[in-house]
Amino acid sequence: MPIARALFYFATSLSLVGVGYSLATEPPPLAVAVAALVAYVALVTGGVLFSGFGMFADVLTHGGSGARGVALTFDDGPDPSTTPRVLDALDAANAKATFFLIGRKVDAHPELAASIRARGHLVAVHGYEHERLFSLRSPGHVRRDLERAILAIERAIGVRPRLFRAPIGHVSPAMARVADALDLTIVGWSVRARDGLAGTTVDAVVRRIAPSLEDGAIVLLHDAAERGGFTPAGVLALPELLAAAALKQLPCVRLDDWA
Ligand SMILES: [Zn+2]
Repeated sequence: MPIARALFYFATSLSLVGVGYSLATEPPPLAVAVAALVAYVALVTGGVLFSGFGMFADVLTHGGSGARGVALTFDDGPDPSTTPRVLDALDAANAKATFFLIGRKVDAHPELAASIRARGHLVAVHGYEHERLFSLRSPGHVRRDLERAILAIERAIGVRPRLFRAPIGHVSPAMARVADALDLTIVGWSVRARDGLAGTTVDAVVRRIAPSLEDGAIVLLHDAAERGGFTPAGVLALPELLAAAALKQLPCVRLDDWA
């Protein structure tokens, strides 16, 4: 069990014991009760924001000791202005990758989702609306969004996605439960380019990613800007990243090659 989850169980048990004890005897001083509540909320919030620690769900952040090659992953597409460029660069390097698609964009461009699959890449799901505050949503809301996204992908490519990356990477307990119910494996990353931000430069992407390319690395890039309007620096940096992987003799593989 991840240490973060053990810590969460311990803190939850401690809180319940504290509440039980208070009810059976007398309430604690207000300052103690407030401090305990703040600490517990901070712990849970940390678990949601830093999902890679696995507080609420097992999150795949690295291929593990037996994994060979690197898994390039692309979020927030498909987009006709940038995704084809990524596909061409991958083809030129004989590289395979995994694309975490946004359901509403798949509905707008199903032919692009089909093209990603036809060119040998793995299609995975990244939510339908890609809401910023998705991790604060109820289990019912999360489930409806994910089912809608899965359906959009199934319609476009004829295959049900099995891997899920949470919008902006935050994993709530509700998302963990729904992913489990829908048989989705939650995927994080071992290194990310931060290229979803408009100000990120190509140089910054290469400097962040190239040294972290190693067997089992899961690289988070973007083949499209979340709301359009700019070309993610990762798209422009991709030929250089592929060359860096080749220099290290690391094949670029799909995530399901490690499953
Ligand atoms: Zn995203």
